[in-house]
Amino acid sequence: MDSIVEAYLQRYGVSPGAQRFLRKTQKMYINGEWMGASEGAVADVIEPSTLGRITQIPLATVADLDRAVGAARAAFDSGPWRTMKPLSRERLLHRLADLVEANAAEIAEIESVDMGKSVTSARDIDVQGTVDTFRYFAGWATKIHGRTVEPAALPGEYVAFTRKEPVGVVGAIVPWNFPLQTMAWKLAAALAAGCTVVVKPAELTSLSALRFAELVEEAGIPPGVVNIVTGTGRDIGAAMSRHPGIDKLSFTGSTPVGQEVGRAGLDTLKRLTLELGGKSPVLVLEDADLAAAARAVANGVFFNSGQVCDAGTRVYVQRDVHDAFMRELVDVTRTLKMAPGLDPDCFISPLVSLQQKRRVASYIDAGITEGAELAYGGRAQDGCFVEPTIFAHTRSDMRVVREEIFGPVLVTAPFDDLDAAVAEANDSPYGLAAAIYSNDLGRVHRLIPRLKAGSVYVNAHSTLDPAMPFGGFKQSGFGRDLGPEQLDFLTETKAVWITLP
Ligand code: NAD
Repeated sequence: MDSIVEAYLQRYGVSPGAQRFLRKTQKMYINGEWMGASEGAVADVIEPSTLGRITQIPLATVADLDRAVGAARAAFDSGPWRTMKPLSRERLLHRLADLVEANAAEIAEIESVDMGKSVTSARDIDVQGTVDTFRYFAGWATKIHGRTVEPAALPGEYVAFTRKEPVGVVGAIVPWNFPLQTMAWKLAAALAAGCTVVVKPAELTSLSALRFAELVEEAGIPPGVVNIVTGTGRDIGAAMSRHPGIDKLSFTGSTPVGQEVGRAGLDTLKRLTLELGGKSPVLVLEDADLAAAARAVANGVFFNSGQVCDAGTRVYVQRDVHDAFMRELVDVTRTLKMAPGLDPDCFISPLVSLQQKRRVASYIDAGITEGAELAYGGRAQDGCFVEPTIFAHTRSDMRVVREEIFGPVLVTAPFDDLDAAVAEANDSPYGLAAAIYSNDLGRVHRLIPRLKAGSVYVNAHSTLDPAMPFGGFKQSGFGRDLGPEQLDFLTETKAVWITLP
């Protein structure tokens, strides 16, 4: 660990538990055993506010992946997980949730140091969300079943019923913006359904997954049921997409990579869930509570420094209230504290990497060059920090309006009538989420079906819960995480016909 990171941990009094973990030699968790990469390759893990090195993670080879897939296959085909009584699976998932909860503060520190995010939101959102997701799906383990069917037309006498069977070995490829929580979304439902899993965390943020693997072991989940393989997307992610031993691939990440994963997955006809990018529109209507809307809009785009797939990044404001709303929005944005993630009051944390900072800064430059009016922010700072940035009076052909930036950058424009606002909102290849700010129930209800998005938030943004499905329309992907809907993507439906003599 570099001394600058040591000093950072000391300054914020990071717990002994997190320090122990961050200083240890990191190993992958395959078939219930801890191991380095078979060829010994490692990658540095960088802390985003100091740019110092925290530790190193193993870079798996395809042979390591094969071993993990083989372990998951054996655990599925002949291990105890699928055949275990659902109540026993439920109990183990609750035990795992309890262990995550008992170690919440330490895991939040690890997530914050690794990804750069606010330690407070890591604890309250990422870790708490992980606990809630495991508890929610633990309850589903005993409630997955088929139905008996009365054949509608076929002459003769039959007993006909369906069975819901676990899809098999699930590969989970996870991005870096909510590393633990996104992994939990994929793991909890898969395990409840009786599947076994191979997880590949993002190479920038693998540490919380490795800490989680310690808790998987402590909870007594049998070897091979959960395997964590650290490695690059280019090598290990791509190999997972092609792997004949993986029955279902659940991918969260960018749309271009999702398209590659989808193409490769189709060669073996894998079941696919693709949770991809977004450029979510927000409509602020003239009757909205402007102060409340400004607070929610700022939170909806600047939370996690804008590194949120469903961030409300395009805001359309009814012209009569446009100037008043923009004043409120700028005032709220000014109050957001930019600080290192371990600062308990941090709201704007550093971006995950220098590469991401450069990408976001280049979009800000593009916005200025294309003639957008810079209403707030716009500067990149030391470390991986970028100020929250608001562009006003943008046009729909600008790159900052069309492309996903994945940083703290908001574009806004006024609108005159609702038809024009809906057209602007839907004028995007993405369809992950949309938001409406209004208290006019009639207008809100008429707008909801017209917005092409997997989630519609009214008078809030990113209200997520394990009981509600999450996923995209259009190029934001297909399939759903969370809610009972997710279980449909982790089970095969078998139709059984018994002909009566
Ligand atoms: P990314 O697509 O670069 O990487 C995501 C994961 O895919 C990482 O684990 C990476 O190692 C792996 N990967 C990279 N190249 C691969 C390849 N060729 N084959 C297989 N796997 C590969 O995305 P990111 O930069 O980590 O995350 C940001 C993106 O994720 C944004 O576009 C964001 O909108 C999206 N995202 C979507 C959701 C959602 O639920 N829809 C949630 C979070 C993030």
